[in-house]
Amino acid sequence: MKMNPVVNSDGLKDSERSRPAVEPAGRIHNFGAGPAVLPLEVVEEVATTLPNLLESGFGLLEVSHRSATFQSVIDSAMERIRRVMSVPDDYEILFLQGGASTQFYMTALNLISEREKADFLITGGWSQKALEEAGRVGDAAAAWDGVDGGFKSVPQDGEYSIREDSEYVHYTSNNTLFGTQYHHLPDSGGKPRVVDASSDICGVPIDVASHDVIYAGAQKNLGASGVTLVILSPWAMSRGKEGLPTMLDYNTHVSKGSMFNTPNTSGIYVLDRVFAWVERNGGLDGAIERNHAKAALLYDKLDSSDFWKPHATEHSRSMMNVTWRLADENLEAAFLEQAEEVGMGGLKGHRSVGGIRASMYNGCPMGSVEALVSFMQDFEGRHN
Ligand SMILES: *Cc1c(COP(=O)(O)O)cnc(C)c1O
Repeated sequence: MKMNPVVNSDGLKDSERSRPAVEPAGRIHNFGAGPAVLPLEVVEEVATTLPNLLESGFGLLEVSHRSATFQSVIDSAMERIRRVMSVPDDYEILFLQGGASTQFYMTALNLISEREKADFLITGGWSQKALEEAGRVGDAAAAWDGVDGGFKSVPQDGEYSIREDSEYVHYTSNNTLFGTQYHHLPDSGGKPRVVDASSDICGVPIDVASHDVIYAGAQKNLGASGVTLVILSPWAMSRGKEGLPTMLDYNTHVSKGSMFNTPNTSGIYVLDRVFAWVERNGGLDGAIERNHAKAALLYDKLDSSDFWKPHATEHSRSMMNVTWRLADENLEAAFLEQAEEVGMGGLKGHRSVGGIRASMYNGCPMGSVEALVSFMQDFEGRHN
């Protein structure tokens, strides 16, 4: 393999190794749900490429997608994803646009026809939307729906059944709004699995080979907004139909290496740099370990007194988005306001749950969670 600055095995040029990341003044502890905080060293590295990307003479926002420089970037990004996530060789990796929201429709369009069936596990607002869009294409139905339980948990195997003649099962691996997450590979009744992994991809273990479509917007765990990662199995590619709208046909993008039209060039570069950062920090296992540690610290705090009311049922707790109320809901506004005063942003819960939500994706440093927990300790002391 040709080595260049983008594809060094440890992901860095010599000059870039082990720089201490010092938070510039005014940067907050960002707990936003997405777009979300990126590792500071990635942000700084990307900043240096704005005038001149990889000594090409072209700036990051100005380089042609048809250039050798950009080809090396997209190749590098795909190779890293394959390595970090152990994507089987016969699976395709795509970088599309239109967000996970476009995939709600596009997956169904490419996988089923009008009379064919697909089953959905409904664990929150995003899976509801996925079901609704798939319903425009074929016979899409909810095999399980957590709405009556307030979306406090994900289904366990045995709590639902999949239709005998269903073509696939769709689930949402992490429910960004409600703060729940599967900690097992959901039973699909032997059918192919399609997963919206937007908010936990590369933050928790995932067995790629047990899925046929994996899709995720990049703006939570993988990078900046505007890139959607799609991973397709040979089965998924074989389902393609004649006569689909060109841009909504997976085969268009597979056959052109995600460059049928102009891709989000800068977004793909950021994604490559985020994966390089993951690789030099212990790979997927390292990310999982850090996310476990962050989640354990925050949930321990939430469990330590009745002052806090965590939303999710224990077995379904998300490691990426932690949601809770205060026992006295009247204190929530003060909590958010004071958090902001001490430099913490993005903590307001989604309107469908209310309360507080701390999103702690891969880019969120432990130091931010420590700062949050220490603020919570302090706040509780003053109001209890
Ligand atoms: C954020 C999110 C989406 C929506 O992503 P867009 O890129 O804005 O379309 C879909 N699903 C999940 C699970 C999400 O967290």
